[in-house]
Amino acid sequence: MSIAVKTRIRQVASFALALVMAGVLFCQAAAPAYADDKQQELEDKKNQAQQELEEIRNQQSENQENLENAQAQKEQLEAKNDELKQEVSEISNQIDELEIKIGEAEDAITAKQAEVDQKQAEFDERWAGFKERMSSMQMLHYSGGIDILSNATNLFQLLNFTQALADISEKDEEICQQLDEEKAALNQEKQELEDQKAQLEAQEATLADNKSQLDSKIDELVANIQQQDATISEAEARAQALEAAETEKQAEFNKAADELDSYLRSLINNSSGSNPALSCSLNFICPLGSYKYISCEFGDGGHKGRDYAAPGGTPIKAVASGRVIRVAWHDSYGYYVMVYHGTADDGNNYTTLYAHMQSWPPVSVEQTVSQGDVIGYVGSTGNSTGNHLHIELRQNGNRINPALYIPG
Ligand SMILES: [Zn+2]
Repeated sequence: MSIAVKTRIRQVASFALALVMAGVLFCQAAAPAYADDKQQELEDKKNQAQQELEEIRNQQSENQENLENAQAQKEQLEAKNDELKQEVSEISNQIDELEIKIGEAEDAITAKQAEVDQKQAEFDERWAGFKERMSSMQMLHYSGGIDILSNATNLFQLLNFTQALADISEKDEEICQQLDEEKAALNQEKQELEDQKAQLEAQEATLADNKSQLDSKIDELVANIQQQDATISEAEARAQALEAAETEKQAEFNKAADELDSYLRSLINNSSGSNPALSCSLNFICPLGSYKYISCEFGDGGHKGRDYAAPGGTPIKAVASGRVIRVAWHDSYGYYVMVYHGTADDGNNYTTLYAHMQSWPPVSVEQTVSQGDVIGYVGSTGNSTGNHLHIELRQNGNRINPALYIPG
């Protein structure tokens, strides 16, 4: 059987017990009583087993609570963990996207650099041509230039030549300037691309930092979850151990109860074997002249008798004639009386027990009583929460439902 199912059964059992205790005021599953030390010893054994059983059950519910707490915490941690993992996954996607953008920016920078280099090459080429022309002109000036000058036939020819030289020089200068400007613009664009790339890298660094923080949190959560798992395993192991202890203690309790019961039967057997033999008829009367209501029937929550709620001091009458075999105090029964009625027409012998009497009963052991004789008064002594009569009926020593023969 699973722990959950067992817990459910236990909860239902506890609930039923609580109902009996809260709703049915007078139902006390009182133990049978004996006249001597043997009785007390058996009673003590049974009570002790009962107490230990209750202690184990308390530990079980405490343990169950711990187990459920740990499971709830684990669920919360796992939910948080899932949430963080989702966040990390989103951040990882963002980082991937940024890395693509950074790659694109790097490509753009490389392309821009190629353009700058191309422009530089053009500039260099142009500059080299310009220098060559200038050098040629210089040579012309020092050598051939003189001839041109001296051979110029008129002023116009001379001025035209000089102007041509100046034009060439000016054009070269213009082109070089333009190339230089274009290169500067390209460098500017490249710089902007590099700035963009740096921004993307800064964003990526921030995200990577966030991701690393989340990763640490996840590590922490995983450690917590492992801790909860350990707590759960521990509680489950403890639940098993407690269950074994409960089974053992329950067996101990049952054994003690059986011993007590068989001892009581032996007492009744002694009584039934005594002389003169008693006989009774089965036309029992109600033990009370009046009562409020029957507050608990036989079998309710393990109840061993029948409870009549009645005002304190209401006279309690013997349901049939018989011999008093027990007048005593007991922790469960309070002041109580047992009457052995003898063998009835059906061949079975009957004994009644009247518990929770107000005070020491006005009858004594071995006293013969007639049906209807007052043997005590309703009270709330022993394990009782209000004035009532708890009556038990035994047939050949075995408890049976009083309602079978005793009228309400
Ligand atoms: Zn009772």
